[in-house]
Amino acid sequence: MSESKLFSPPGQAALCHWRTHMLERRLIAVQGTVQGVGFRPFVYHLAAALELRGVVRNDSAGVLVDVEGEAEAIDDFVRRLTTEPPPLATIDSVAAESAGLRSYRTFRIAPSGGGPECTTLVSPDAATCDSCVAELFDPTNRRHRYPFITCTHCGPRLTITHAVPYDRPRTTMARFPMCDGCRREYEDPADRRFHAQPIACRQCGPTLRLQWAAAGRSAAVTGEGAIGAAATALRDGEILAIKGLGGYHLACDATSSAAVSRLRARKHREAKPLALMVANLEAARALCEVNEAEAALLRSPAAPVVLLAKRPGDAVAREVAPGNRDLGVMLPYTPLHHLLMAEAGRPLVMTSGNRTDEPIAFADEDAMSCLADVADGFLLHDRPISTRCDDSVMRVVRGSAVMVRRSRGHAPRPIRLAVPFPVHVLGTGGHLKNTFCLGKGRHAFLSHHIGDLENLDAFRALQEGITHYQRLFDIRPEIVAHDLHPDYLSTRVAEEVAGADRLAVQHHHAHVASCVAEHGVTEPVLGIVFDGAGLGADGAIWGGEFLLVEGAGYQRLAHLGYVPLPGGDAAARQPWKAAVAHLWAAYGSAIDSLTVPGLDALERDRLPIVRQMLARGINCPLTSSAGRLFDAVAALLGLRAEAQFEAQAAMELEMAADPTTTRSYPVELRETAEGWIVEPATLIRGVVEDLAAGLGAADIAGAFHNGVRDMVVTVVARLRRHSGISRVALTGGVFQNALLTGRVVDSLEREGCQVLFQQRVPCNDGGLSLGQAYVAGLVAAGGQLCV
Ligand code: ZN
Ligand code: ZN
Ligand code: FE
Repeated sequence: MSESKLFSPPGQAALCHWRTHMLERRLIAVQGTVQGVGFRPFVYHLAAALELRGVVRNDSAGVLVDVEGEAEAIDDFVRRLTTEPPPLATIDSVAAESAGLRSYRTFRIAPSGGGPECTTLVSPDAATCDSCVAELFDPTNRRHRYPFITCTHCGPRLTITHAVPYDRPRTTMARFPMCDGCRREYEDPADRRFHAQPIACRQCGPTLRLQWAAAGRSAAVTGEGAIGAAATALRDGEILAIKGLGGYHLACDATSSAAVSRLRARKHREAKPLALMVANLEAARALCEVNEAEAALLRSPAAPVVLLAKRPGDAVAREVAPGNRDLGVMLPYTPLHHLLMAEAGRPLVMTSGNRTDEPIAFADEDAMSCLADVADGFLLHDRPISTRCDDSVMRVVRGSAVMVRRSRGHAPRPIRLAVPFPVHVLGTGGHLKNTFCLGKGRHAFLSHHIGDLENLDAFRALQEGITHYQRLFDIRPEIVAHDLHPDYLSTRVAEEVAGADRLAVQHHHAHVASCVAEHGVTEPVLGIVFDGAGLGADGAIWGGEFLLVEGAGYQRLAHLGYVPLPGGDAAARQPWKAAVAHLWAAYGSAIDSLTVPGLDALERDRLPIVRQMLARGINCPLTSSAGRLFDAVAALLGLRAEAQFEAQAAMELEMAADPTTTRSYPVELRETAEGWIVEPATLIRGVVEDLAAGLGAADIAGAFHNGVRDMVVTVVARLRRHSGISRVALTGGVFQNALLTGRVVDSLEREGCQVLFQQRVPCNDGGLSLGQAYVAGLVAAGGQLCV
């Protein structure tokens, strides 16, 4: 605010009078995701409403507004830039400075210059906005029932963008020249479709087609009739591959056991829960409990799959999420989905169109070939997908939205860091739930979900994704950070990046760094990482770690006591092996005289071999994994001996737990040359004794969760005393367990700790790449990897 120093301060009434008549000019720089999101039309309308004159233009750093008018109106204007931005804009900063008057007569939008916009941000894809949905179902609108309706507030972005600056010729809409009607809207600054790159209508835009997988079946249906035909097929129990924003979904009637079972059989997916799409919020409420925060998530522009507690007697087939008390539910997020859901009139399964373990199919030819024996038909269109992007998955924990899988609707929006990267960096992520992260300035561009790097397709998807983002954001990494594990495909990808230094970052260090980067914390933290598995600095499989993380470095202060794990990493799918390992560690050879019903019934014939491996130490790497400890207890309770997907047993243990149980198990902490060791054996003995006493699984599982909480609280108390640090970062996949996270956070906060847990970035391996990139930045700034 500039007030003339030539005058002494006038009285209040005089000030108002004086200020309303004072003209000013200010140059306002707005940074953030402000391009391709209708920001300039918003500025135009706001300026018009406040009777301001001047010009708005995109520049390399964001949007620049040169504005002239009454000082008060400009103050108002600056305030409303940040309080009322369009739905897809995110404002990082607004800086204003005064300038000499230019006597502008109008307010106008300057055309984009070509060159220097490469550092601007590509926006994530956004669910169809309310205005577009209203037009979609309005018979008088020229886009009534047109399945590709969109505007500046919604529609595809990342998934159609080849290159920057983001405009139509650089998107997959380039092949659809605009008709006169669309062009008029596109060029009218007052229109909701001003410079909306993907706009189209039925005269000029993409078209639909339904075609059948079986040769000789009836002819393909083109145009809007395809939706009705697809809905009929789905109601008849058929499976369709449906082209969405970032790839293909496999869809079927979620209320039909037969249809869902057939989809599972064809997709070779036995038990992992399948996501659902329902028509609207009311339909979601008919199936699940939905609180305010969850409703807001469902309706957010990202429209993620939200994990919601099932209601008793819901209409969904049991096969959708067997043994699970939650359902993963999303609302329609494209016009095609809205039309289809309205016609289908029931919840649909909408799961990634892939075969198990392969990345989601997004190229038409790939989808047609790899899904030909899964789908009965294909609902296609001719707008190509440039970048694959799976649905994001979120849930609400303790009232906060928490990311489980960060992908469509969130990628490639950067995580903004407290400290800028001194050079460009890349983190190539882990082996499971892979993402990558490119860093530049204050921005960490965390990618969409790539998937488990189990095969060549996923490996290529990672390489292609990195190349694409490097081009989009003009990043040439000088340091490439990767996991310590030499055999991960993500490590291989790092080795192939030319002209960059490489940096191996220990898995759990990267987890803590991810949490710290997300929260913008620069002070030292005690990182608690409860995880499945990651290679440790001593060659053991780590996963129950208490790390002091300070600057670029870490020090392992404490960990769960090692147990020898028969078969090593492969035991992740065999909770019974983790159970035997933990029994062995707790009881030694006295294990023979134990009766553990869950184990005896299931693995009597395989036990002797595993016992021999343990006795002789053959192929039994040591592990401190908290994930395997949860597996072990799930197996001991007879909940699950063999897992069909990652973390299934641990999930079932959480669901089995009686949250009202207050009992717990003792904690044993001892000091050794390599730091403090907290022994899992006390928990295992507690579980075995309770089983022998005839207590139920719900009670024991509840007591076990309390035991793990007590373990964390005890260790943290000890480490605080030694380090003086009371800021705690919780991360690692085990903290996806909401019961555990809630208990641990409550207890630590009661003890006076400041507790950070991951929200915008997954605490599972999907967040690793951010941590790697962050550590690389700190190392580039001169930091050391050892504290
Ligand atoms: Zn819209
Ligand atoms: Zn048109
Ligand atoms: Fe991990």
